[in-house]
Amino acid sequence: MSATSQITPIIESDDFIRAALLDADIPSLLPALAHVLGDMSLLRPSLAHLAMLSNEPQAGLTAEQLDEARQLALEALIKFRDAGCVPARAPSHDELRTLMSYATSGETTDAYIPLLREELSIDGHDLRAPQWQANAIAPNTNFTVAVIGAGMSGLLAAHRLQQAGVEFVILEKNSEVGGTWWDNTYPGCRVDTPNHLYSYSFAQKDDWPLFFSPQNVLLDYFRNFAKEFGLYEHIRFDTDVVSADFDDATSSWSLHVRSAQGDEKLGANAVISAVGQLNQPKLPDIAGRDTFAGPSFHSARWDHTVDLAGKRVAVIGTGASAMQFVPIIAKEVGQLCVFQRTPNWLLPVPNYHDPVPAGLNWLLGHVPFYMQWYRFWLFWRIGDGRLIIAQVDPEWTGDKRSVSAMSDLTRELLTMYFQMQLPDQPELLSNVVPQYPVAAKRMLLDSGTWIPTLQRNNVSLITDDIKQITATGVVTADGVHHEVDVIIYGTGFHASKFLTPLKIRGRNGVDLHDEWNGEARAYMGVTVPKFPNLFLLYGPNTNIVINGSIIYFSECEVNYVLEAIRELLAHDARALDCKQTVHDAYNARIDDGNQRMSWGVADVHSWYKNDSGRVAQNWPFTLLEFWEQTRTVNLDDYELLS
Ligand code: NAP
Repeated sequence: MSATSQITPIIESDDFIRAALLDADIPSLLPALAHVLGDMSLLRPSLAHLAMLSNEPQAGLTAEQLDEARQLALEALIKFRDAGCVPARAPSHDELRTLMSYATSGETTDAYIPLLREELSIDGHDLRAPQWQANAIAPNTNFTVAVIGAGMSGLLAAHRLQQAGVEFVILEKNSEVGGTWWDNTYPGCRVDTPNHLYSYSFAQKDDWPLFFSPQNVLLDYFRNFAKEFGLYEHIRFDTDVVSADFDDATSSWSLHVRSAQGDEKLGANAVISAVGQLNQPKLPDIAGRDTFAGPSFHSARWDHTVDLAGKRVAVIGTGASAMQFVPIIAKEVGQLCVFQRTPNWLLPVPNYHDPVPAGLNWLLGHVPFYMQWYRFWLFWRIGDGRLIIAQVDPEWTGDKRSVSAMSDLTRELLTMYFQMQLPDQPELLSNVVPQYPVAAKRMLLDSGTWIPTLQRNNVSLITDDIKQITATGVVTADGVHHEVDVIIYGTGFHASKFLTPLKIRGRNGVDLHDEWNGEARAYMGVTVPKFPNLFLLYGPNTNIVINGSIIYFSECEVNYVLEAIRELLAHDARALDCKQTVHDAYNARIDDGNQRMSWGVADVHSWYKNDSGRVAQNWPFTLLEFWEQTRTVNLDDYELLS
């Protein structure tokens, strides 16, 4: 793990470089080389890729184009090496535009340049780090923060607070860091965002073993991060936060925490909730569930003491988790009944299970800015560049299974992916092809494992509704009793129940959950009126669906929180409370935005919606817009409390 600017000089031979280039991602390599050599002529029009073909290997570049690009890159790298590996001066604004435009085949606008500058750490520094120190701004103020949760976003918040010299403690219910990567240990558990993007912008690794890391690698990444940045000593493990109360008299928080040492009260000026959205396992409300006599467990509480070998196993649910563990356990169980309520769109990702080739890792570690351009290319192709497939065209009069011409084209292409795998099994085909628009539910990555798993002799896909669970199995609506030895629930999480089971009382004792009444909302996804200095990370409407990495969102949110704290210190205020009118107008904009996206208009069931049908999870706009709105805090949006 290193800061983005740390690069090893090239001393290897021409032949070594030539061989490494066979593993290169070419669409992002050419901008990186043009950047580092200051030579825009490397951006040959004849080698330009098409961002819209980003799902194709090398974005659809032909073999001849790849050969030409590799030869060009080889000459450029030899020149760079022989000149002492000194990068050219930072690109000008115009050059940056040229580079970015080439990297995204002209799809980005100038508005992306400031974000790109930050992403690239253009002058070699972590530009997202707070540029201020608490004791310089308010030398006589002792401002303390309680961070709840030591997962990805809690560790990030802690790191930034530490950089700014703000005192903090992290309260973590588990006995280790990692959050979701600690909780989820089911077979096959891995990230479904490419790791070069699913990693902190300022703590990149040029040696990810796989493009999409499994749980243990990610857990190590967060452990190493906490170790390297000195966060462990600030964490109180095995400590539950029971409640947090805002004291109107002192404008500060009092937390009731529980650990093996007993109950105690902790004071803090601000509370950062970093408890995640997907951490409360949801067991289905199916009659007789408690009567099942054999072992049963939820995917996020995998019971590794249960030996599945040769057993008859039922898996209820076919979401992102089941999609990962079903192909693994299918190989060892005797019989597997997979109960599917709604099929998912599969997104073909051939390298989903592949190791990162040695040549690519070498290039990422030796070519300055290659990591950043590779990351930006990923940011574009699975981020804002992909949003178009979910955007509703109000004029769309076509099939209800789509929301625009682009959505329909994507639906057709993804349907063909199923058809190609199931040419002779019309019944299975009709059971697995979704009848709702793409991106209305989370699309699941597939390297070609799901359909072959369902085709196995020991696997049955059951699409009849579940009527009841008995002591010995699962009864479906057609009256069939599926006898099984083990039931595994891949039934997701209570995603809409933000911050449960925490009890949080704000100004005048108002209870957060009463206030929300099942409709969690926040301003910027971060602040809630009547709850001064309570900051939410991965709060309402900060989830991304098809576009990007949730770590990017956390970096934006943490920036906003740190800005809020800086403003408090600068204004000698104790707390800030979001104005209700500002919050309401913001949420009206979010609701309107979500109604223009496929996940908002489609009537298919998804965890993006709460019980009333409101999309409480998702951010409906571009990644750029979220970054722009979280860069600074507008104090007009807040009441300052002293
Ligand atoms: P999920 O996507 O919510 O899937 C739950 C599954 O259970 C769905 O198939 C759902 O059917 C089914 N289900 C729920 N209640 C049911 C009932 N009463 N009867 C029958 N079926 C029922 O949950 P998940 O798979 O745990 O994933 C949740 C989220 O976690 C993902 O979307 C993703 O954001 C995250 N995740 C990420 C990764 C990763 O990065 N690799 C891996 C796992 C999870 P319906 O579709 O009909 O609701």
